[in-house]
Amino acid sequence: MTESSLAGLRALVTAAASGIGRAIAGALHAHGATVHICDLDAERLAAARAELPGLGTTQADVADPAQVDRLFDEAVTHLGGLDVLVNNAGIAGPTGPVESLDPAAWDRTMAVNINSQFYCARRAVPLLKAAGGGAIVNLSSVAGLFGYPLRAPYAASKWAVIGFTKTLAMELGEYGIRVNAICPGPVEGPRIEGVFAARAAAQGVSVEAMRAGYLRQNSLHTLIQAQDIADLVLFLCSPAGHKFSGQALAIDGNTETLRI
Ligand code: NAD
Repeated sequence: MTESSLAGLRALVTAAASGIGRAIAGALHAHGATVHICDLDAERLAAARAELPGLGTTQADVADPAQVDRLFDEAVTHLGGLDVLVNNAGIAGPTGPVESLDPAAWDRTMAVNINSQFYCARRAVPLLKAAGGGAIVNLSSVAGLFGYPLRAPYAASKWAVIGFTKTLAMELGEYGIRVNAICPGPVEGPRIEGVFAARAAAQGVSVEAMRAGYLRQNSLHTLIQAQDIADLVLFLCSPAGHKFSGQALAIDGNTETLRI
């Protein structure tokens, strides 16, 4: 793909001041798209603005529909319309056996991981229809394809993302709007280190043993890089991806189980 192949595309990426969202926003920006992002973290938003000239930013919690409304008002002012929505926001949620989980932590996981995708899609769809078509990319996980013991709210929310994706793909295909989900395996970075640590503590094993166990679970024995996911988003938004819709695309070295 050439550096300018997405020139003119107007893209909104949620929770993109760091992590996977930051890589996605950077890749879209590098390929010529005009990009608006949101995040909870004002300092990281300011850093992203300094790094990516022309980036629009809004401090917002995507689990709150009123804040999502403000996000979309600001994004439309900045972008002048919308061609791509990347619903990236998602939290790990609590780790533990189901009977130990706090209902408030369950609710927060659902609110960030799936409710936010609805709040954003309901605002994005009229804009994408007005643009004559576009793409929605929803972040799910390999935990949206397998059962994931000790992470029930996360797995339930990520399966919900796939149901939402497949349904929107059917509703919106006739408008030229393509809707896909990406299901990454564990992504190298601070978040997965937290997941390894929480799970190691819950099971009484060392963090090193937990990391090794995760690597054994996929056929390539690999962690995923944020850039791998950004490259897949670029593909889905580019002309090469224009026949993809309703898919849950795993990028995971071929997960064989999430039993650990
Ligand atoms: P992360 O934990 O690194 O967080 C990225 C950003 O999200 C942070 O800047 C944070 O401030 C922001 N954020 C968190 N809650 C928010 C909210 N309610 N509103 C706005 N911003 C918010 O996340 P990540 O690892 O980059 O994950 C991104 C997506 O990819 C998530 O949907 C996650 O579930 C999914 N995913 C991640 C992994 C992984 O191993 N990291 C694997 C599979 C899927």
